[in-house]
Amino acid sequence: MIPVAFDYQRPQTLDEAVALLATRGEDATVLAGGHSLLPVMKLRMAAPELVIDIGRLAELRHLRVEGDEIAIGAATRYRDLVTSTVLAAECALLPAVAATVGDPQVRHRGTLGGAIAHGDPAGDMPAAILALDGTVVLQGPNGRRSVPVAEFYTGLFSTVREPDELVVEIRVPRTGATGWAYEKFTRRSNDWAIVAVAVATMPSGAVNVAMVNMAGTPIRATATEAALAEGKSIVDAAALAAEGTNPPADTHGTPEYRRHLAQVLTRRALQTAIA
Ligand SMILES: Cc1cc2nc3c(=O)[nH]c(=O)nc-3n(C[C@H](O)[C@H](O)[C@H](O)COP(=O)(O)OP(=O)(O)OC[C@H]3O[C@@H](n4cnc5c(N)ncnc54)[C@H](O)[C@@H]3O)c2cc1C
Repeated sequence: MIPVAFDYQRPQTLDEAVALLATRGEDATVLAGGHSLLPVMKLRMAAPELVIDIGRLAELRHLRVEGDEIAIGAATRYRDLVTSTVLAAECALLPAVAATVGDPQVRHRGTLGGAIAHGDPAGDMPAAILALDGTVVLQGPNGRRSVPVAEFYTGLFSTVREPDELVVEIRVPRTGATGWAYEKFTRRSNDWAIVAVAVATMPSGAVNVAMVNMAGTPIRATATEAALAEGKSIVDAAALAAEGTNPPADTHGTPEYRRHLAQVLTRRALQTAIA
C-alpha cells in the first residue's frame, strides 16, 4: 500500500530536530533507518502529518568510550556496531547481537536508536541493552534525561518516551571482549527471533540474562540470575529461565514452546559465557 500523504523535513542539527519535534509533538514522527516505520506507514497503521528525518544527523552517530561507559549515538547503524573495533574490545556482546539482525540491507540502514525507540518485543537490541544494564538518553525541549533501559519499556511497542522527546544516545558499561553470549532461535537465518537469550557478565561479576519475545517487553530472567548468584549450577539456574515470563502465542510457537526454548537457550548461552 501507499502511505497517507505527509510532510518531510530533514533538520541539519540536533537542536533543530528537537525544536521541530517540540512544535509538532504527536502530529510528527521521527524517521531513522525507516525499516520499521515505513512498513507501518505503508500499512497505514501510522499516518503522521510530518516525518522528521534524523537518520543522517552526524551528532547522533558517535561511538566512544567515556569513563566506565560506552556512549553510542542513536543514529548509529547496525553495520557500525558490527564493525566497531571499540565495541569488539569493550563490549563484544553488542556487535555480536547486531550481526544477527535481519540481512545486510537492514543492517546498513537500521539504527540502534530506532530499534530501542520502536520497542518491538521481538527485537534483538533492546534485550542486549537490558542484559548490559544500559541507559537510554532522551532529549526534549526541557533538556536531557537518562532512563535505565529496565524502566524504559512499558508494554508492547510502548516506552516512557514523550512525543516531544528524541532518543539521542544509548550508554552501556565496558564489559569487555569475553563473558557474553547470544543465542537466537529462528526458523530461517534472517528472521526475527522466536526466542533469544543474551548473557552479559558485568564488571561487578554479576551475570545478567535478558530474553527476547518472552513477554510484551524485553525481560530479565531474574530467577536464573538469583540462582547463579547463590552458586547454583548452570543447568539448575537455566531451568528457571521461564519463571515470571508471559510469552506470546503466534504462528511460530505456543507459550509452552517458548518457555522450553527459553530454558534451553539460557543453558547454552550460560555455558558459552561463563562455563
Ligand atoms: C526485512 C527486515 C528484517 C528485520 N529483521 C530484524 C531482526 O532480525 N531483528 C530485529 O531486532 N529487527 C529486525 N528488523 C527491524 C530493524 O531492526 C529496524 O531497523 C529497527 O527495528 C528500527 O530501526 P530503524 O532505524 O529502521 O527505525 P525507524 O523504522 O526509522 O523507526 C522505528 C520507530 O522508532 C522511532 N524512532 C526512530 N529513531 C528514533 C529516535 N532517535 N528517537 C525517537 N524515536 C525514534 C520512529 O519514529 C518509529 O516509530 C527487520 C526489519 C526488516 C525490514
